[in-house]
Amino acid sequence: MKFKLIAEYFDKLEKISSRIQLTSLLSELFKDTDKEVLDKVVYLIQGRLWPDFKGLPEIGMGEKFLVKAIAMAFGQKEDEIDKLYKNIGDLGEVVFTIKNKSKAVNILSFIGNPNESGELEVNEVYNELVKIATSTGEGSRDVKIRTFTGLIKKATPLEAKYLVRFVEGRLRLGIGDATVLDALAITFGGSTDYRPIIERAYNLRADLGDIAKIISTEGPEKLKNISPTPGIPIRPMLAERLSDPNEIMEKMKGKALVDYKYDGERAQIHRKGDQVYIFSRRMENITDQYIDIIDYVKQNIVGDNFIIEGEIVPVDPQSSEMRPFQELMHRRRKNDINEAIKEYPVNLFLFDLMLFNDEDYTIRPLLERREILEKSLKENDKVHMASYIIADNVDKLREYFYQAISDGAEGVMVKSIGPDSIYQAGSRGWLWIKLKKDYQSEMADTVDLVVVGAFYGKGKRGGKFSSLLMAAYNPERDIFETVCKVASGFSDQELDDLQKKIESIKREERHPRVSSEMVPDVWVTPSLVAEIIGAEITISPLHTCCKGDRGGLSIRFPRFIRWRDDKGPEDATTNQEIMEMYSKQLKRVEEKPVDENI
Ligand code: ATP
Repeated sequence: MKFKLIAEYFDKLEKISSRIQLTSLLSELFKDTDKEVLDKVVYLIQGRLWPDFKGLPEIGMGEKFLVKAIAMAFGQKEDEIDKLYKNIGDLGEVVFTIKNKSKAVNILSFIGNPNESGELEVNEVYNELVKIATSTGEGSRDVKIRTFTGLIKKATPLEAKYLVRFVEGRLRLGIGDATVLDALAITFGGSTDYRPIIERAYNLRADLGDIAKIISTEGPEKLKNISPTPGIPIRPMLAERLSDPNEIMEKMKGKALVDYKYDGERAQIHRKGDQVYIFSRRMENITDQYIDIIDYVKQNIVGDNFIIEGEIVPVDPQSSEMRPFQELMHRRRKNDINEAIKEYPVNLFLFDLMLFNDEDYTIRPLLERREILEKSLKENDKVHMASYIIADNVDKLREYFYQAISDGAEGVMVKSIGPDSIYQAGSRGWLWIKLKKDYQSEMADTVDLVVVGAFYGKGKRGGKFSSLLMAAYNPERDIFETVCKVASGFSDQELDDLQKKIESIKREERHPRVSSEMVPDVWVTPSLVAEIIGAEITISPLHTCCKGDRGGLSIRFPRFIRWRDDKGPEDATTNQEIMEMYSKQLKRVEEKPVDENI
């Protein structure tokens, strides 16, 4: 299959203005794609070479490198390329322009350029990109530059443009997993009716390329038999939130398992023979950061084929008391992992089991899963079961909540123990409900919102981005709906970093998956997620979240708390959750809080 075709689709995809067109164009691309390379094409359109969980390097060729490679490819000076880059502002466009010009010259001089005939194959491009990503050590710089120069020389102007953007990490078409799933359902199942089957398979085996290849070569029915596989992450099950213990117990039909909600890093731990893998909440491979956990797991969990889940929590090296989550960041920053382990020790608190001895436990009720987990764990001072009780009334829940807080937990996770209490991979539902410490604010909880645009500041902050247009995720329509404009809470350092962050994702037009009535100074591809707290949720004519006749929902006095690098845009707070928070707030005003301490 020719890479030219992909480049042409990239060009069309970039110009599209609605989610529906995006899906149907993607589906056309899948139809035109050879089955053998469909997995690679799926990765490429998402701007990567492989799924994050493989823990393999991404390309990330810096600008300097690229300018050198482009200069070499065209026999020009680096200064000239730099100058063009300054004028045009996009290295992809720079190569496109130069290639187009040289093409015209070649045609005029009747020479023709045999290297520019669009003969690049997808496999060839992919393999060369892999070579660039994986070459390390001495001499790797030259290998990278030479390999990329070779590609650029052979490419058509359009191919070269997208190759440069890809290698720069700027191929941000903003095509989320949901769009890919819809397009796969249409292409290989005939309609989006097939989406639930494909989605379930993807939830249990979160490798989109792999799922695409299976469906294209073996048909959608094959996906029905897919089960979790050690080494490939499962999409995590997520919790709803409520702030009233009475309501929680009602939802749980009077009885539930109540776990401490630990404030650490979620870890999905896989064991396949001698291999142990640890995946983060975002399904990134974090095994290398926790080599101590690998040992704990090997020593303390019986069995060599399982997938379990827990929270990694920093603890005080002397007292073993739980420490704040931020300590994990310090640990990550240390270069020497052995020193980091000593200085910032961690404990593991286990709360679920999804696979054991090749048996899929995601379809079993919670108590059954916990029983197997408990039996296979040799409890010790490093690895523990999450502290829990079975509560059958509100008082027990409330008491346990206070105990959790005083032990340094964030609150509790209340979990259904009914016959249908399966592990709902990849979805946020009422089988798990979180009850957290109240924040000193009228809004009962923070929200995680996606940046969709940015505004320049005035006065002291003139010329710099100083406020962000933030949106919630609407999973039904797979779009982002605006909720607020956030300008406060950033430290000076965070404001400085913001400039770079926005520059790297800015785009000329509104992204087709963004619904907004406000027009920011610059639009961006939805990719960054930030945690935001506000005074309250109100109705506003300016925002599109849950928009109805009276307006949309918006957050008053929003304040930036921190970046949520562990979340992708589709993990952001949903429009439905904002609506639920709004109704709760109304109820609180009308009825006064049921329990003012929570
Ligand atoms: P938050 O923003 O509140 O951390 P989230 O959106 O990351 O939440 P939720 O499902 O809403 O994810 O909250 C559950 C998170 O709490 C999990 O991702 C997990 O990391 C953490 N956690 C701590 N203790 C437990 C537990 N006992 N059971 C399940 N999750 C737990």
